[in-house]
Amino acid sequence: MSSPVLQNLLSLTHDELAARFGALGQPAYRAKQVLHWRYRMRVDAWERMTDLPAPLRAALAEQFSLSSIALVRRLGSNDTTQKFLFKLGDGQLIESVLIPASTSLYGERSDRRTLCVSTQVGCAYGCKFCASGLDGFTRNLTAGEIVEQILQAEAISHERVDNVVFMGMGEPLANFENLMQSIQILNNQAWGVGIGARHITISTSGLVPRIRELADQPIQVRLAISLHGATDDVRGRIMPVNQRYNVAALMEACQYWHERKKQRLTFEYILIAGVNDGDAQAERLARLADPLKAKINLIPYNTVTGLDWERPAIDRQDAFHRILRRGDLDVTLRREKGHDIDAACGQLRRQTMQTA
Ligand code: SAH
Ligand code: SF4
Repeated sequence: MSSPVLQNLLSLTHDELAARFGALGQPAYRAKQVLHWRYRMRVDAWERMTDLPAPLRAALAEQFSLSSIALVRRLGSNDTTQKFLFKLGDGQLIESVLIPASTSLYGERSDRRTLCVSTQVGCAYGCKFCASGLDGFTRNLTAGEIVEQILQAEAISHERVDNVVFMGMGEPLANFENLMQSIQILNNQAWGVGIGARHITISTSGLVPRIRELADQPIQVRLAISLHGATDDVRGRIMPVNQRYNVAALMEACQYWHERKKQRLTFEYILIAGVNDGDAQAERLARLADPLKAKINLIPYNTVTGLDWERPAIDRQDAFHRILRRGDLDVTLRREKGHDIDAACGQLRRQTMQTA
């Protein structure tokens, strides 16, 4: 763990680090060397960077930290979904969830290991079904705190992460700058972590101006929209953000994304008993997805301690699914993995805070 006065190395791109090294009178190739140690060799101690002169290592150790998060709890085992609770430098807690290969995230089987990462401590958006929003918003994660979740998850599990989903705690698009910075570091093949842009998915509750801004960025990351209601009436009851950006405005932003990126997006739709699981919602949802050719990912609600919502009975889930499958929509019903370890975002943190 580092002292807060140190600059987190994992927050910097290669060019930013090279500029800082330049100010210290060091040649730019040193930046590449250090990042090679950190991201390729996964070395997190200066003394192990053996091709750097010892006095330089000592000088860098006084200015830069190589790690700023530490594991405090781990749930699950190597062949199942694993959940990590990390403590940040200021004592705040965040979660990441590792989903093993062959456990499908979107219905299809996958040979990729996925890490679900957090972007904020808490969340300001207060969706009524979600554990992350229950205690409100504390702060944004830095780019380095986001990037390190991947490095730590790999070090703990001894597995490579080759798919990243921004579906942990927080609203990624509300921490836009640090999100984009972390993606640059995660994506870069020459000096960074080297995860392909198509294996990075951002999930948002629907921040319309930010969706447009993201569509204008050159990078080809994937986008998932937390829809959870197909009309303003239903969505507005469970997602306060719908008062600011209603379904029509959200669909326009999705259309913009679709046109700019030439890419399909995903609608995430949690099924909550008696709230958004009726036939009429399924029909409206199909009509929203159709013009965008959006994939629909149905997720039976994961119960949250302290909240009264429940997942619908299996036959209701199936009936909802069947209505959507009538057309040629790409729709999956994801029977959530990790239900037994409270894998829905924000739950482990709450549990730990309440028992601490
Ligand atoms: N803030 C972003 C990303 C984090 S939430 C967003 O809302 O998209 C990631 C996903 O988990 C969202 O689709 C969210 O709606 C879903 N989620 C939250 N609580 C859940 C629960 N109890 N059961 C199932 N999914 C949940
Ligand atoms: Fe925040 Fe997403 Fe949870 Fe809503 S669903 S409270 S936006 S983390």
